[in-house]
Amino acid sequence: MENMDIAVIGAGFAGMTAALYAARAGARVTLFEKAAEGGQILTAPRVENYPALGETDGVALAGRLGEQVRAAGAEIRPAAVTGIAREGMGWLLQTESGDVTCRALILAVGAKRRRLGVPGEDRLAGHGVSWCATCDGNFFRGLDVAVIGGGNTAFSEAIGLAAICQTVTVLYRSDEPRAERSVLSRAERLPNLVRMPGSRVTEILGGETVTGVRVEQDGKETVQAVSGVFEAVGTVPDTALFASLLPLAPDGGIVTDGKCRTALPGVFAVGDCRAGAVRQLVTAAADGAVAGILATKESNL
Ligand code: NAP
Repeated sequence: MENMDIAVIGAGFAGMTAALYAARAGARVTLFEKAAEGGQILTAPRVENYPALGETDGVALAGRLGEQVRAAGAEIRPAAVTGIAREGMGWLLQTESGDVTCRALILAVGAKRRRLGVPGEDRLAGHGVSWCATCDGNFFRGLDVAVIGGGNTAFSEAIGLAAICQTVTVLYRSDEPRAERSVLSRAERLPNLVRMPGSRVTEILGGETVTGVRVEQDGKETVQAVSGVFEAVGTVPDTALFASLLPLAPDGGIVTDGKCRTALPGVFAVGDCRAGAVRQLVTAAADGAVAGILATKESNL
């Protein structure tokens, strides 16, 4: 059976940084990725808060990190991990490319978009309801769309959509959105970006495709006519695979100590799948560095 020093599950920013540090310290490292290399950062049209980088885009950043990881000697393998079990002093992973063993394991599985859970959402998913403006925005060129949510993701996506759509209505349930001031200031300068604070979307309407959303605001119900709905109501850690293996926090995040160690020996968790993560690119990278260094040291490689 194939044996490696450190296996990393998830080639997002946190996982790739962990692999970079561990490989540079001399470990034989393989990253397993079930979807696209780069993770959530691939859907960020603009990154402007990574220290010293100025403005860049997520795809470029992910590409540069992937090159750096490979140059350090780690392998990025496009295969899902489907099972994990204790094996001697290490861990056995069942993967789409066969079983492997490792001495230390770094969980970097990230988070997926939360669903709103309203009528019409499941039926119209892919027919006007989307969770990724970067991926699907072009289908709505010249049309009216709604973005649901008041965080950085919602406003960043709304700003991107406003450049190609006729109007973008951002609906959020609080009076003040959570998005940071610099993002909100940019949104305020766009005449076709309209905000609806204190509003709750109660249904997504349409037959074959989306035609509107039903909205409650100030005790009144209205229908906003839109052709597309982009949901950006936060993320949930993508940790279902570990539910029987590890303690999870109520939000589904993997519980760790301050050094990214989980309750299991030799198993670390980094980035957005970790309970209490701040969920910024720079903190994902910081987690990756901590776990990459400690996994290498503590496995006595
Ligand atoms: P977020 O900051 O958690 O915001 C989620 C938004 O969805 C909030 O407006 C929240 O409303 C709303 N919401 C949650 N559940 C809802 C429900 N059931 N019904 C209606 N509305 C609901 O999520 P995010 O914007 O995806 O950001 C996630 C993390 O990534 C954050 O830490 C964020 O700072 C970070 N991020 C950073 C950047 C950047 O730095 N440029 C870009 C993107 C994301 P309430 O406020 O009322 O709870």
